Order: sequence, then structure tokens, then C-alpha cells
Amino acid sequence: MLKYFFLFLSTTIQISAIGQDLIIKNINILTYENNFKPYLGHIEIDKGKITKVKEGHPKNEKAIKVIDGKNKYLIPGLIDSHNHINLVPGLSSEQEKKYPELVKNYRKQLPHSYLYHGFTTIVDLFTTDEDIIKSFKSNKKHPDLYTCGGAAAEYQGYPMIYFPESEKFKNVPNFINSHNRDEEEKHSPKNAIKGIIERNGIVVKTHYESGFSPNKKLPVPSEKNLKLLIKEAHKNNLPVLIHANSLESFQMAINVGADGFAHGLWRWQTKSENDKIPLAVKNVLDQVILNKMAYQPTTQVMKGLVSLFDSNYLNDPLLEKVIPKNLIQFYKSNDGKWFENEITSESNLADMEKVYNNGIQSLSYINKNNGFLIFGSDTPSAPIYSNPPGLNGYYEIQNWIKAGVSHKRLLEALTINNAKFLRLQNKIGSIQEGKIANLVLLNKNPLEEIEAYNDIDSIILHGEIHKREIFEMNNKS
Ligand SMILES: [Zn+2]
Repeated sequence: MLKYFFLFLSTTIQISAIGQDLIIKNINILTYENNFKPYLGHIEIDKGKITKVKEGHPKNEKAIKVIDGKNKYLIPGLIDSHNHINLVPGLSSEQEKKYPELVKNYRKQLPHSYLYHGFTTIVDLFTTDEDIIKSFKSNKKHPDLYTCGGAAAEYQGYPMIYFPESEKFKNVPNFINSHNRDEEEKHSPKNAIKGIIERNGIVVKTHYESGFSPNKKLPVPSEKNLKLLIKEAHKNNLPVLIHANSLESFQMAINVGADGFAHGLWRWQTKSENDKIPLAVKNVLDQVILNKMAYQPTTQVMKGLVSLFDSNYLNDPLLEKVIPKNLIQFYKSNDGKWFENEITSESNLADMEKVYNNGIQSLSYINKNNGFLIFGSDTPSAPIYSNPPGLNGYYEIQNWIKAGVSHKRLLEALTINNAKFLRLQNKIGSIQEGKIANLVLLNKNPLEEIEAYNDIDSIILHGEIHKREIFEMNNKS
């Protein structure tokens, strides 16, 4: 109660027939335009757009709502460029069918979980399921959602192989076929791009992944087809993001001229000595930096797996803010531990930790040498409960800081770099007149404290301001 009393004190509301929809005054503004140096100013918002950003006080306060942002920080709405909204963390596809109630509750909360953690734009890098997309957008308040319009993945390669025969064409309609001549024409890279555009994709996602056990020798796209795909994508002003995480796949992506990597380089395929990055890895990362390719570390892919071994993980108090209580209870049940039971028998914790640490070291190297970082959490990267929506982004943020990324470069990756990579910089990614008013109001300075990202006062979504609390999972009901 006391908390709300103070909130009330610091908020002034004025009603006016004319003027702007919203003014935030006395606010520390952090944005790309000012090289992320905070300055005290004000912002005016009307009809969902930023109409003015300026130092000092507003000339007048004619607005429906005026907020005093004293001691608070305003940053652009965060962008997470790697998500999979079709998957429910922790549920297998059989379990999704078996427990429709769990799925329903999760989907209802999903958009709010992202907003709760300040993500006002997310990109899905796989789904073509119109019902899933509609369900996400049917929530009155949801982050702006973009997709890749379906993956341009190799026929019967990763990830197409994981779908049952009856579902694979529906799930991967834009597949390319590099190894079967008869089919090649029909499923050419050109047709894949056509399909992506038809499905309103804003980025091309392709995969170079020969697989992991038990499917280790999966077909991958040919170099020729990857080049054709990229050429066709660029003709249509679409960036190409390639799923790669090994030396071999990174080298291929460099050779064919992809725009970015949907993962970090963590499969080193070579022994490291004295905890140093092996020369072969360094050489590849140097090319990534030299070619200014976008690097999306997705450290939570491996960290999420490692977290499954932490018996205390499910008691993280942040989890119940984004995941329905009955789903957390399911995670704690025997049935809910199916995935970890599978991987514990097949691999082991030390290996996963090693691979995670490789990823952190690669990120650290890219960062030190001024590589172009884009932020994506890969939520969820596997059907694991340790990649919860929104919160997984906050975990990812913390991993970057542990890797030595500066607070400024992190904020850059979360906002302007993602916007630039996705060709959305005219709409979002910074606090600039004319852009969509997607913003986050923080109680702390994110350039000083990483906890600022979990100390959000409000989220501004297309000009409408919402207290963070309204997006919290209501665990009492
Ligand atoms: Zn992914």
C-alpha cells in the first residue's frame, strides 16, 4: 500500500482537451541518438508516436497525461530477435495435446511475460502457424510481433526431420532441396524467398546444422543454394540469419555472405589449451568481425540446459511472474522432467558447461574486438522450462554482463542494433521523433546496474503507458 502511495505522489495527471496524449518530463533519456549518454529532458507522445524528444522542460504541459519521471530512466522498448512462440517451454508435443488447459493458460500469459520484462518487439524465427500468431495478437496488450515467414531449411535436414511426415510440409513450407534434382526446381531458394514474403517474413532464417545425436549426419543446404538464397533475399531487402554454432557452419556462413548468426560460436571442434580461445576459433571470429556480420550469442541455449541440473531452479521467484502456477507445478512433477531425464542419460553436465563457457568466451572476444552484437534469447531453444518467455531475456542479459559486455553495448544490442539488423530502424530501436512510442521506464540506470532491467516502472506500448505489475502472472487466481 505504502508503495502505491508514493507512486501516486510522483505522478501528476492533468486533463486537457487539446495537446498531446502523453508527456513525460524530468526524465533521464538514454538513446542511440545521444550515444546512450543520459540527459535530463522530456518526451511528448501522440497517437502512438513520439512527437518530441528534447532536453529540459516542456514548453507547456498540454497533454491528457503528464508524468513526472524524476529519478527515472527512459530507454527504447527492448527487442528480442530470436523466439519461438509456437513452443510451450517444458512441454513435448504429446504433452501439449494431453494438457490443453496448461497450454491455454500459458498462451494467454505469453505476450504479457515479454512486456513484463520490457520487450516491446519480438521476432519469431520459425513459426508459420496462423492460429498461434493470431492467438498471440489476440491479447489486447502484446509486443509487436514479427516473423521470418517460415524457415528456409534444407529438405529432411534440421529442423524438418523432427516433424512427423504428416506435419513437416506444413511446418517448413519454405524448405529448399539441395540434394534431390527432381525436386530442386520446385523448392528452389527463389521459391523459398517468395514463400517468406507471402507470409510477411522480415528476415530470412536458414540452418546449417548437421545435427546432434541420434541424428548426426543430417543433410545441409549446398553452398550454391545458400548463395542463391542470400542473393534473392538481398534483392528483396531481407537480411539473412543463419543457424550456425560450429566452426564448420560459421565458415560456411562467412563464405556465402550471410548477414548474421542466430547463435554464438560454441562448438569449437578442437581442444582449447589453458582456457584460451583456439586459433581456429579466433580466425573465424576475426572474419565475423571484419565482415561486420551480426552476432547473436543466444547464451541461454546452453545455459538453459545447464539450469536443468539445478535442483533449485524451479524455485526462482521470478519464474512465477511469467509462468502460470499450474504449469510450474507440472514442471515439478515426474511427467514434467521428461526432457532432463532424456539428456542426463545421453550427455552430462560438465560437457554442457564447457560448451556454454565456449560461447561466453566467443562472445567476450566479439565484444572486445567491437563486433556487431544483436540480442536474441532463443526462447525456448528446446522444449525446456528453463527458457521462460521474457525472463529468458533477462537471463541472457545477465550472461552478457558476465562475459564482460559493457552495459552500453548491451543496451545498444537490445535496441538500435536489432532494429538496424531487422531493417526496422525507421520505426523502432531508439527514442526519436516519428518513431513508434515503444519505451520502457526504469527505476535505475541500466548503464550502471544490470538489475535496472528487472526494476521496471512502466512499459509504454504504442503510446499507452502501463504499470509493470499489470503484466505479472496472476498466480492468485
Ligand atoms: Zn531458435
